[in-house]
Amino acid sequence: MALVKCSECGREVADRASSCPACGAPIQQVAKDPPKPEPPNVIERTSKKWDGLELGGAGIVVIGLATTRLAGMVWVGLLTIVVGIAVALYAWWHHG
Ligand SMILES: [Zn+2]
Repeated sequence: MALVKCSECGREVADRASSCPACGAPIQQVAKDPPKPEPPNVIERTSKKWDGLELGGAGIVVIGLATTRLAGMVWVGLLTIVVGIAVALYAWWHHG
């Protein structure tokens, strides 16, 4: 037997009860069905992962380039570009 909180008075009520014994508010039945597990995203090939990482690194570089155009954000942008290049190089290195 599980306890649920009454939405009206906050008292813990047996989930089998149809109404709260304290205030008479109807008890909302908790969904009995457990949430269906999402199918795992299987990466078909390892190379795809590295391709994505290369693209991600390129994306970070683009974001960094855009950031350097913002006032006072030049160094943040440059740092972002360096990180993006590092990510892309790292992926490229492992990708072969
Ligand atoms: Zn209640």
